[in-house]
Amino acid sequence: MTTLREEIDRRRTFAIISHPDAGKTTLTEKLLWFGGAIQVAGEVRARKASRHATSDWMELEKQRGISVTSSVMQFPYRDCMINLLDTPGHEDFSEDTYRTLTAVDSAVMVIDSVKGVEERTIKLLDVCRLRDTPILTFINKLDREGRSPVDLLDEIEDVLKIQCAPITWPIGMGKGFRGVYHLVEDTIAFFDPTQPSEKGATSEVIQGLDNPRLDELLGSQADELRLDVELVRGASHSFDRDAYLSGKQCPVFFGSAVNNFGVRSLLDAVVDMSPTPLARATETRQVDPHEEKFSGFVFKIQANMDPKHRDRIAFLRVCSGRFERGMKVKQVAGGKTLAINNAITFMARDRSTTDEAYAGDIIGIPNHGTIRLGETFTEGENLRFTGIPSFAPEFFQRAILRNPLKMKQLQKGLQQLAEEGATQLFRPSVSNELILGAVGTLQFDVVAYRLKDEYDVDAVFESCPINTARWIKCSDEDFRKLSDLYPNNVGTDGAGDRVYLASSRVNLQLAQERFPNVQFSETREVH
Ligand code: GDP
Repeated sequence: MTTLREEIDRRRTFAIISHPDAGKTTLTEKLLWFGGAIQVAGEVRARKASRHATSDWMELEKQRGISVTSSVMQFPYRDCMINLLDTPGHEDFSEDTYRTLTAVDSAVMVIDSVKGVEERTIKLLDVCRLRDTPILTFINKLDREGRSPVDLLDEIEDVLKIQCAPITWPIGMGKGFRGVYHLVEDTIAFFDPTQPSEKGATSEVIQGLDNPRLDELLGSQADELRLDVELVRGASHSFDRDAYLSGKQCPVFFGSAVNNFGVRSLLDAVVDMSPTPLARATETRQVDPHEEKFSGFVFKIQANMDPKHRDRIAFLRVCSGRFERGMKVKQVAGGKTLAINNAITFMARDRSTTDEAYAGDIIGIPNHGTIRLGETFTEGENLRFTGIPSFAPEFFQRAILRNPLKMKQLQKGLQQLAEEGATQLFRPSVSNELILGAVGTLQFDVVAYRLKDEYDVDAVFESCPINTARWIKCSDEDFRKLSDLYPNNVGTDGAGDRVYLASSRVNLQLAQERFPNVQFSETREVH
């Protein structure tokens, strides 16, 4: 029998972040393969396509070649239970990614060795920094002619403002890529793409830089490597666990995901270096993962993949204790107690009913719209986890119905899609308009498609004169004054919170200057 502490401490919960095309899907596939979760390479990609086959709106995703939804994959590796959270790569769905990052304890950043640090990587790193999420870096595609490793590390340090501590070091690149040297273990793994991917495309592993076998295999390149390693050891940071855990330093690995080369070292690092489930903040106190009592928060709501079933899945990160099937838990916001009999996990192969889950794990709770984004569940205590953000949208459109008799369905559909986080919904105080807000414009296409497909509502969206939104906090008296002066700019969001809908930056600035006691915020915590 394992103890609660042992079970929790063998959890590793992380997400892979990258600019599209850097190799996230490929790497995911290989990691799952190591976990025995998939038998054949290619399944993740196939699954990506097939799991949506029943759902037409997902056609949109396939057509555009992007992933709208995130998913969760759990697999065992060595003595650990790994939870890998997938995030959509397209920036229009960045809110989803941000929220997913609130549910992990660490992240793996994939960098394309040819392209270096790209725009999405910078944004994602900014999000990780909000919580000082520890990051491991995998520099991918060493089988291509890329940039020099020193150059890449310099760029990461300069642009992303994070120290690099190389753990492996590449020997050559592109056609001349021979393998990697492991700076900590003092081993050299030789790359051979003709070896099967199951073997990690490795022909041989030898111990020691001074091993004569190195000269046999590398010839004059052996001395170059020795010199390189000496320089690297002298000039770069050595691994510092505290710096890594506080998000200030990233250990760096080199490899080629498509060849499965260097991937095992990365996964071993997740086990050996990455944090066990971390404590999480609530409005009142820190919750330690080892507490006996179960608690967790919902970081994502997803419509059922089969649109014929109107149910939704709430993804809950277990923050403390142990969950077991049939457990009665309190939904803190409404004060209700419910028995969760049908929680699911998304095993890499299949969904299955979960009998138990521990802090660090993710469970999916089917519901009919009764669970909202950001909600906390406990075994009774009135806790509310903090830090699950909604971001001020940058694009706004007004929903117009083709058939006015469908107003109820439209309202219901938009309300539900807003609760899922697919879009944000605003209602100006002075009109009956339904205004949609999005962080990326593709979100509108998805909402229009889903309204038609799931709610049978034909809606079109047209532009409206809103430039940005802010959530406002102030006294009722100040709110009344603000509404008197700016009747067209105040309203509420989908959850009923007060918002200011600014027609321009200048309009917003003036309102802020005139009402110094009103707090205008760009993010809203969902709970
Ligand atoms: P994602 O958009 O980040 O999920 O990237 P994918 O995993 O879909 O990979 C993008 C492209 O890069 C695909 O064509 C992959 O086959 C390719 N790719 C991934 N890893 C490697 C690698 O190590 N070497 C090379 N040459 N190509 C790779």
